[in-house]
Amino acid sequence: MRFAVVTIFPEIFEAFKKIGVVGQAIRDGILEILIFNLRDFTTDKHRVVDDYQYGGGPGMVMKPEPFYRFYDFYTEKFGKPHVILTSPQGDRFSNEKALELSKHENIVIFCGRYEGIDERVMDIVDEEISIGDYVLTGGELAAMVIIDATSRFIPGVVDEESLKRESFMDGILDHPVYTRPRSFRGKNVPEVLLSGDHKKIELWRRKEALKKTILKRPDLFMKKDLDEIDKKALMQLVKELMKDAQ
Ligand code: SAM
Repeated sequence: MRFAVVTIFPEIFEAFKKIGVVGQAIRDGILEILIFNLRDFTTDKHRVVDDYQYGGGPGMVMKPEPFYRFYDFYTEKFGKPHVILTSPQGDRFSNEKALELSKHENIVIFCGRYEGIDERVMDIVDEEISIGDYVLTGGELAAMVIIDATSRFIPGVVDEESLKRESFMDGILDHPVYTRPRSFRGKNVPEVLLSGDHKKIELWRRKEALKKTILKRPDLFMKKDLDEIDKKALMQLVKELMKDAQ
């Protein structure tokens, strides 16, 4: 899968492309991230990408021509991409959206700066994506968030079993996790995790995942379709709470 990012600050992506899961996926040849400097698609001596806005007002606006010039160049070289515009006005990014995007082979992400991008660029954009209800100074962090979360769904990037267990995958949050040491500053790892009884461990994990979801994200819990193991885990949770209350 290929992501092509269009930005006036390509250097922001240097470390991102080298480290962690994303860096490994690139080295394994599963993922390609191409970074394009929008200024390379200008035609004037000063490589200008912005101008004053019509109608007046503070702040500069990104000019349409370099985006169109990039789009023509890219489409001719790599075929028609799915184009995302990072924008606080877009649809809210989510795990479901990341999964959906991972099915594309060829994605272009436009990073805005200043007051945003000339509206006529929308004609070459397939969708606008926001990473939350706040305004960033540029689209680069949003592009990294989108690429990072989407890459995890590309087969071979993350172990499939751990992907299934991650928060949101089953409509609930992930269970608590522990590593060595077994006892740390008087806090012990729950006994059940040391028992070797996989059925018991599974039930405990589901119970704790449901408990976290109820406490931290009741909105998710209210939407969850409970299966048999969820019901069993909830029964155990209620019993524990009743015992604690006595
Ligand atoms: N004037 C624009 C508005 O109010 O809708 C905001 C422009 S913002 C200062 C500059 C750029 O940052 C945007 O063009 C977009 O690329 C990016 N950006 C800002 N907030 C974002 C968000 N929540 N999600 C995704 N991209 C964002």
